[in-house]
Amino acid sequence: MDKIKMTTPLVEMDGDEMTRILWKYIKDELLLPYIDLKTEYYDLGLEYRNETNDQVTVDSANATLKYGVAVKCATITPNAARMEEYDLKEMWKSPNGTIRAILDGTVFRAPIKVKGIEPCVKNWKKPITIARHAYGDVYKASEIKIPGAGKAELVYTAEDGTQTVELIHNFKGAGVIQGQHNISSSIESFARSCFNYALDTKQDLWFATKDTISKKYDHTFKDIFQEIYDADYDDKFKAAGIEYFYTLIDDAVARVMKSEGGYIWACKNYDGDVMSDMVSSAFGSLAMMTSVLVSPSGVYEYEAAHGTVQRHYYKHMKGEETSTNSVATIFAWTGALRKRGQLDGLAELETFADKLEKACIDTIEAGKMTKDLALITEIENPVVLNSLEFIQEVRKTFDAL
Ligand code: NAP
Ligand code: MG
Repeated sequence: MDKIKMTTPLVEMDGDEMTRILWKYIKDELLLPYIDLKTEYYDLGLEYRNETNDQVTVDSANATLKYGVAVKCATITPNAARMEEYDLKEMWKSPNGTIRAILDGTVFRAPIKVKGIEPCVKNWKKPITIARHAYGDVYKASEIKIPGAGKAELVYTAEDGTQTVELIHNFKGAGVIQGQHNISSSIESFARSCFNYALDTKQDLWFATKDTISKKYDHTFKDIFQEIYDADYDDKFKAAGIEYFYTLIDDAVARVMKSEGGYIWACKNYDGDVMSDMVSSAFGSLAMMTSVLVSPSGVYEYEAAHGTVQRHYYKHMKGEETSTNSVATIFAWTGALRKRGQLDGLAELETFADKLEKACIDTIEAGKMTKDLALITEIENPVVLNSLEFIQEVRKTFDAL
C-alpha cells in the first residue's frame, strides 16, 4: 500500500513522561506505517526546554504561526519538586501558557463519546464543547489583605494624567480586596475564535456572564460578543443553520443540565476552568476529551486535555506494566492531520483521520480498553489492555475497516 503523502509539515511538539512514551507508540504503530509523515519536530520535553532556556517552546509556537497546525504532547509545568528532579536552571513557565500568549487563542474541549461509557447526566446525548477564554480576570488579579479601618479605591490614571476614581469600600475593620482586568482586544479574539469554531463544527454557540450584577465588567463581554456577531457573523450563522444565544450564567447552568448537548458553551476564564471539569467528569474521563487551541487568525494547536500521567510513568520506569489511555493523544494527532488535510486539500489525510478515530471508538465498543475505562464502563466483562496492547488493538481494528 502506498503511504499517504503530505505537502505542508505539521508542527510536532513532543512532551514528557508517560505521554512521551505513548507519543512514540502512536507514531510507530498508527501513523508511520500509513503516512509519509511530514513534521517539523520540537522537543518540549523538560530536559530540552531547560537546555534551551525554554527557547524551544517559543520557537514551536512561532512555527505554529508559520504553518498553521500543531500537535502537542502533554508537558510538565515545573514546580519546586520538578526543579530538583530535573535539576532546572529556572522554574520555567507552563508551556501551554507560553504558547497561548503567542497564539492568542481560545481553548475548546469536547468529550469523545463512546457507547458503553455513558455520561452521568442521562439526557446528555451529544457532546458539550467548552470554549474557555484563556486571559485575565481572577487569573491576573491584584489582591490586598486589608488589615483594618481605611478607604479602598479603584484608580485609573490616563496617559495625560487625568484620574478616574471609584470607591470600593470604606472599611471599618479588616477585610480583603481584589482588582481584576481584561483587555478588549483579548475579548474580541475570544469572541471571533468562538464564532469561527461554531461555523467550523456547525454547532450552536452559547455564551453567558453575570452582566446583571457586573454592569460594566461582564457587560463589556456581552456587548463585544454581540457587536462582533451583528457585524460579521449573523449572515454566516443563518446560512449555516446555527444560532448564537446569550443568557445569564445561572440560566446557562440550568439549561445545560437539562439539554441534550451538541453545542459550544463559551465561558469566561473562571467559569471555563470550573465548568470544564464538571462537564468532563460527568462525561466519564479526562482521557476521553479532545482539546484544541484556536487562534483568531485561524491557527490550530491540538493536544490531549490530561497531563503527563506521572504516576504511570514511574511504574513504567520501574519496568511495571501500565494501562494508560492513549485515546486523547491519538485524537490530538487525528485532529491535526484532518485540519492539515482540509487546509491542503488532501482528502486522503482527512479520511485517514476519520478512520483512525473510528478504530479507537470501535475497539472500545468491542470491549477492549484501558483500565481507566474498564472501571467505569457499562460493557460487561471488558478486556483490560496495557498501554501498548491497546494501541496495537486499535491498529488491528483500523486495518480491518
Ligand atoms: P495527569 O497527568 O492528568 O494525571 C492525573 C491522574 O489522572 C493520573 O494519575 C491517572 O489516574 C489519571 N489519568 C490522566 N490521564 C490518564 C490517561 N491518559 N490514562 C489513564 N489515566 C489517566 O495529572 P498529574 O499527574 O497531576 O500531572 C502530571 C504532570 O502533567 C504535571 O507535571 C503537570 O504539570 C502536567 N500537566 C500537563 C498538562 C498539559 O500539558 N496539557 C495538563 C495538566 C497537567 P490514576 O493514577 O488513578 O490511574
Ligand atoms: Mg480546573
